[in-house]
Order: sequence, then structure tokens, then C-alpha cells
Amino acid sequence: MAQLKADKYTQFVSAGFGKDLAKKLGLPQPAILRRFAPEEPLITGPVLVVGSSSGAEALASSLLEWNLDVRRVATPKQKLGAIILVLDELSDPREFSEPIRTVGASLRDLAANGRLVTVSRPASAELEPTVASARNGVDGILRSLAKELRAGSTANGILLADGVSTTAVSSLGALRYFLSGRSAFVDGQFLTVGSDSGAQPADWTRPLEGKVAVVTGAARGIGAAIAKTLARDGARLVVIDVPAAGDHLAAVANQVKGTALQLDITAEDAGQRILAHAAERYGRLDIVVHNAGITRDKLLANMDQGRWDSVIAVNISAQLRINQALLASELFNGNSVNGSSGAPRIVSVASTSGIAGNRGQTNYAASKAGVIGMVRATAPLLAPAGGTINAVAPGFIETDMTAKIPFATREVARRLNSLQQGGRPEDVAETIAFLASDSAGGISGNVLRVCGQNLVGQ
Ligand code: NAD
Repeated sequence: MAQLKADKYTQFVSAGFGKDLAKKLGLPQPAILRRFAPEEPLITGPVLVVGSSSGAEALASSLLEWNLDVRRVATPKQKLGAIILVLDELSDPREFSEPIRTVGASLRDLAANGRLVTVSRPASAELEPTVASARNGVDGILRSLAKELRAGSTANGILLADGVSTTAVSSLGALRYFLSGRSAFVDGQFLTVGSDSGAQPADWTRPLEGKVAVVTGAARGIGAAIAKTLARDGARLVVIDVPAAGDHLAAVANQVKGTALQLDITAEDAGQRILAHAAERYGRLDIVVHNAGITRDKLLANMDQGRWDSVIAVNISAQLRINQALLASELFNGNSVNGSSGAPRIVSVASTSGIAGNRGQTNYAASKAGVIGMVRATAPLLAPAGGTINAVAPGFIETDMTAKIPFATREVARRLNSLQQGGRPEDVAETIAFLASDSAGGISGNVLRVCGQNLVGQ
């Protein structure tokens, strides 16, 4: 099984004396998370599909195509790999009672690193109040269950817009993502599928085959992990970073057999230079990942203009300017230029600080909340070409950026989530790879947190 090294504390409390000690003292006992490897099974153990709608039945049938052991009724005391609760026809909160009892009775049988996934419909102010309350009720169930699950298991939800079926491409794509180890550090979150768009990959082990992807800030940390993950999934890469990081950038480019472009993304013509590089080297551009970002933390009372302006310039203004160039270009946003599939993808890295705010980070939070606003407003602009744009909001991820946090603060920060540990750069990368794939074609304007259900914000 693909497992990255757990942090020292997690290793200590996972076996022997450390395990006993942690148990006695009631200390956190983070699980070693199941992470994605293309050659591993999607999930081990039977998958129980709960729900009586025709959508539940259709979904259960579709899952058989993935060679899963699909059950409609649980066998008591038999371990389950996943439970899928389908509530796509919910119209009254009283309807929870029966399916939730079935789920409750099966939870003890959920294996370590198991999955619970709800499939339901979004609530909105336009709905009849009873329907809206039932739909929004799923939110409370899901977020509470995510906090109740143990041993690396997670609970996440799929919201299908009215008219989108449970077997739509991106409903299945999102389900596959949530079942797999790609979503190891995603917990208590929802993905909204807004349309039937998208396509299943020919080969699930290389879902980005034939695509050309750009990753900014790729010399190290999360950006380097994104580049490696997209390359593993079949994409050809252009990796970008500032000239000062040129050596590290070249090493990453070599590793992913891609090309390096030394570029400060705040340059006025950054968008044009990215497009020119992709056109010259590959003749196409399908995916752009805005990952480069900086922090310049200070309480606002002590904040100088330089700190404020540089964070806004790198983290949001550069992305806005580059997107304008991308949207105006035939290479990225046009249809079938040089065989391009005409389904452009942008994924932006935001932060939980941009959702919940953070002391000492007014500048950073403004920029990351700005990214979220930008993503929502850009989604309709990309839709005519079948394009999507989404944001990923990491919580505490183990990188050079977070290694700078003083020890005690860092130790607290990494335990303050339902999985009681920090995430890995690969966790952010796997989520981005999914959102960049054809199977996520019906998902746009979403903000997905990769934070282990961090206690900050929702
Ligand atoms: P990092 O500092 O390790 O890497 C960032 C990279 O971006 C560096 O290689 C840097 O040289 C590059 N970069 C900075 N300014 C640039 C510019 N003007 N032009 C081109 N490249 C530039 O950071 P990381 O931890 O890997 O973070 C990556 C992204 O994830 C950032 O957007 C960050 O805000 C976000 N994020 C990180 C965490 C975390 O816990 N590490 C949490 C939430 C969000």
C-alpha cells in the first residue's frame, strides 16, 4: 500500500509502548492514512449502498463496472470498505430516519481507512422550506459523522444539482475520488456537481494522458508534488518558478520529464509568456494550476505596505492577470486548436485562512479569500468552452512554509482536525489532479478543503 512516512508523533503512538501510553493518557492517536497508488485497488472490502430511490439503484449498478463488491444489504459483523448513502429524492427531514438507522447499524463494521459518502442535492432559498430543510440536513449529518469516524476513515458528500443524475460522469468521478486514497486528507467536505459535462478516462490509472499542464511555484513543496502527481497521471508538464529557484525547478522538470520556465508570475506579460512556452513546446495547453504563493505575516497594526502589497501581488493579482490572458487565448480557451479537447481546466490553491481568517494574516487571508471569489466568478466565463475552474483550500500541510512555525504552535496546529495530523503535499496534489481530469468536467466554481476537517471555519 502506498504510505508516506507519518510524522514522528504518529509513528510513536502507532505501535508498542507509545500506543499503550497514548491510550492511557488519552492522547491523540492519529491513524496512518491510506494514500493513492494507481496499482492498488480503489477500495478494499464490500461497498454498501444505502437508499431506496431509483438513483440509488442506478448508482449501485454503475459501481459493479469498477469491479467493486457492491451490497444493498449489510451482512452483520462483516467489515465494509465504504458506505454510500444516497438521498437524491429527499423532500422532508422525517425521511432521514430509516436510512440513517441502516447507516448507524453498519458504522461499527466500517474498516480502518473506510469511507462514508453521501449523495444528495443542494439546498437553496428558492426551494419549498420543508425540502430545503431536508436537503440542508445532510450537511449536519455529514459534518458530524466525519467527526465521529475513527482510524483514518472519512465522510464526504456529493451534491448533485437538480437534473443531474446519480450516474452522471462527475457524480461517479467525485465518488471514485472520495472512495480512493486520493482524498486521504479530505474530511467533512462536499463537492457540487453542477452539470452532466465531462468524460470518463480511457484508463483510470492515467486519467490525464495527452494533457499539457502548467504548475506555478513548482520548485518545491506543494507545487513540486502537484507536478509529480500530474505527470504520474499522464500529463506533460511546464513547471514555473522564480529565477532564484532555478536549480530546484530544473531538478523537478527533469524528474517529471517536463520543461522549466523561469518566470516571476507577477510580471505584466506572465500570461503571454506561459502561453508562448506551451505553444512552442507542446502546441497545446489544457491545465493551469495556480499554486505559487507567499506569506508575509504580521498583525495588521504592525503591517508595512511592502508586506501587504507583495502578498496581494503574488497570491491574487498575478492569477487574475494570467487568467485574463488564458481566457482570451485560442490555445487554452478555444475549441480543438491543434487537437486540443476544448475542455480547459484551472485549479487555484487557496487556503483555510481565506475561509476562516487567521491572526497575523490579514494580507494572506485577503488574497486567498480573493482567490475563492475569483474562482466563483470565472467559472461561468470558462463554461462555453466546456472549461472548469475550482479552488483547493489546504489546511495544515507539512512543507517548508509550515516548518517555519514555532514548534509548540505547529504541534497544536497539526492536531486540530478530525484526522489529528498534518496533511502531505501529495494530498493537495491528488485533489488537484482529480479536479484537472475529464471526469471532473461537471464540477466548477467549487472550493474544496484539504484539511482533515480542520476546526477552523466550516
Ligand atoms: P512554498 O513556499 O514551499 O512554495 C511556494 C513556491 O512558490 C516557491 O517555490 C516559490 O519560489 C514560488 N513562488 C513564490 N513567489 C513566486 C512568484 N512571484 N513567481 C513564481 N513562483 C513564485 O509553499 P507551499 O507550502 O508549497 O505552498 C504552496 C501553495 O499552497 C501556496 O499558494 C500557499 O499559500 C498554499 N498553502 C499552503 C499551506 C501549507 O500548509 N503549506 C496551507 C494552505 C495553503
